[in-house]
Parts: sequence; structure tokens; C-alpha cells
Amino acid sequence: GSAGGGGGNGSNFTVVIRVRPPLARELQSDRPYKNVVQIDKSERILTISEGPQPLDPGMEDDDGGAYGTHAFTFDRVYGERSTQSEVYESNARDIVDSSLQGYNATIFAYGQTGAGKTYTMEGAGGQWDGRGIIPRAIEQVFSHIQANASPYLHFMVRGSYLQIYNDVITDLLKQDRGSLAIRENSKRGVYVQGLSEWVVRSPREIYGLMERGGQLRATAATRLNEISSRSHAVFIIIVEQTAVYFTDQRGREFGGARGEGDEEDPLGGEPDRSLLQVGKLNLVDLAGSERVRVSGATGQRLEESKKINQSLSALGNVIAALTDPRGRQHIPYRDSKLTRILEDSLGGNCKTTMMAMISPALESAVETLSTLKFANRAK
Ligand code: ADP
Ligand code: MG
Repeated sequence: GSAGGGGGNGSNFTVVIRVRPPLARELQSDRPYKNVVQIDKSERILTISEGPQPLDPGMEDDDGGAYGTHAFTFDRVYGERSTQSEVYESNARDIVDSSLQGYNATIFAYGQTGAGKTYTMEGAGGQWDGRGIIPRAIEQVFSHIQANASPYLHFMVRGSYLQIYNDVITDLLKQDRGSLAIRENSKRGVYVQGLSEWVVRSPREIYGLMERGGQLRATAATRLNEISSRSHAVFIIIVEQTAVYFTDQRGREFGGARGEGDEEDPLGGEPDRSLLQVGKLNLVDLAGSERVRVSGATGQRLEESKKINQSLSALGNVIAALTDPRGRQHIPYRDSKLTRILEDSLGGNCKTTMMAMISPALESAVETLSTLKFANRAK
């Protein structure tokens, strides 16, 4: 993001674009490959330009003109050659840091199927340099703990993993595939009832969870690829830290985050005071944003598409309301399950990054333009 780690509007919102390299199938399609995306030197302005043919005849009506050249400004635009490490360091590290300071934070990956959401969030299978945001976030959390944990500062890390498919929430870390309900009470706020939380002590344990979630996702799906591109996956890391304080013989308090115990053995007695801080990090791989043309879809597929469109536009509306410079009173969190469960992690002191992924290829230009418009609205 821009100065101060927030969005260009001074809020805690950051909107970035990532352009992936062209894929073999785009380079080898029957039409010659054409790149339609340019990034300026400041790495903030992205231009999408018209191809030699109309982008997609027939789309111009509902899209208010897909022709011509459109320029958009974002907090940052990552080009085809951006590395996973660069994206993490310049964009995700601050967010993860804020969750270690006890704030809630969210990173969204938005874009059409095949644009690079899972690559950016999870990484390229097996390659160390290709690790995405989720594994790097986990490493950051645990290295923070290693550097800061003491007899006076205790950490507990918990992980959850859920999916929202067709408006049904399921737990990706439990065999029981039942649908989970959203509840609210004064003690817990809004929460998903029965969602499992797993205490993890090392990055390895949390990778175990990720893998298990992936497998459950696979075995539950008859149309594996489709389900994963048509559902939202939310990986949640909760970092709880308890600072404990003791009083020495001269009545001075010691302990806590910077506590160097002098004479007292802190493990011997009960602390006089303890302070609990909880930060929650939500890493969200959204359903593919491609518009399924209503004429081509029927039955369940049509219903799925409607649900995806509804929940993505509900997310867009919540973000637009939160970033509205006039400061709106009403934030429509209740319009979708996704925004409802993220209510405590969007707005206020919560840092949020919307990462919109795009393909540079002409054949995706219509979807790319719609992704850019969505992202632009979130600024
Ligand atoms: P999505 O999750 O949005 O459907 P994927 O993350 O699965 O898309 O990406 C589609 C393909 O593009 C995958 O083969 C992936 O490895 C590749 N890809 C995506 N982003 C990049 C990138 N930044 N660099 C290299 N390859 C990428
Ligand atoms: Mg994906």
C-alpha cells in the first residue's frame, strides 16, 4: 500500500492488482497472442487497451463500452514478473504484522478462474520460492513467536478453514460435512457455530491442516475443479497472546511483552495480572468472478452462478460503503454469508487488502476489465 500501510484514501484499505504471465494455452490459442495490459513506471497505473478486434462482440451493451482504452490507479500494480516474495514483503507482511499486534485483518484474492488467485494465496505446488501468502504468513507468525515468546508472554495459534459453496458453509477440517450456521452473541460477536479450531505449534502443523483441508475439499467434490473455482475458501489464523505480570518484593510490577524478570521466578507463583490480546487473520481465496452468461446456464449451475454473483457484489458493496469518503452509516454486512462472517475483520482498525488477479491476454480482456472495475470501486 501507500504511505502508512493504508490505502491511498488514508483508510486501512489497500487495493492491488497482480498480472500473471501468459499461460501456454493463451500463447498457443488459435488467435495470435496479444497482451492488452500496460503498467506505468510508478507501478500504480494500469492501462487496458483495445485489441485489434472488439473485445467481445455483444458484451458492449451491458458493460458500458468495453472498447477503447481504460486507465486505473491502484495502490500498487504487480507485473508479470513480480515474485511471490516481492508480493508478500510489500503487501502482506504489514497485514500479518497488524494481526500480531492484536488487530483483525483480511486479505482477499479476487479474479476470474485461472487469473492466479490460488497461486498467489497458496503458491506453486512444491516450489520453495513459489510459496504463496498463506505459508509465508504462517512463517511470519511463528518467527514472531519464536522471537517474542517468554515466561511473561505466551502465544497460542489456532487455525480454521472453511468453504462457502452455494451459500452453504462447511468446515474443511472436519470429516463431518454438515452445513454450519452463523450465530451472534454479545460474548463472541458473529461466529460460525461448530467451526473447528486447531491449536498449532509449528508451521508444519498448520501445513498439515492446509493439506487436510485441500483433501477434504477434493473428496467432497464430484466436480473438483469446478467446486474449488465456484466456492470461497477462508483460511483463518488466530493469534492469542497473553502477557502476564508479577509484582516483585519491592512492589514493582514486572513481566509482559518486555518483561525481564529479575529476582522472581515467574513460573513459581500466580501472576498478579494478565492481559489477553487476540488478532485474527483471514486469508480468502474467492470464487471465480467470471460472469456466467445466464443464457448458457441452467438448473443448479444457474443457481450457483447467481449465488456467486450475489456474494461478490455484496462484498463489493460492503467495501464501497467502508471506503466511502462521505463515511456511510450503514454497512450491509448482512447481505451475504461471506461479509457476515468477516464483519469483525473489515473496517475500523482492521487492515484489509483486496488483491485482484488478472490475465494479460486479449482473450480475457472482458473479464479483466470487469475485475478492474470491481477493484477500482473498492479503493
Ligand atoms: P485461480 O486460482 O485464480 O483460478 P490459479 O492460481 O490456479 O488461478 O492460476 C492459474 C494458472 O496460472 C496456474 O497454472 C498457475 O500456476 C498459473 N499462475 C498464476 N499466477 C501466476 C504467476 N504470478 N506466475 C506464474 N504462474 C502463475
Ligand atoms: Mg483457484
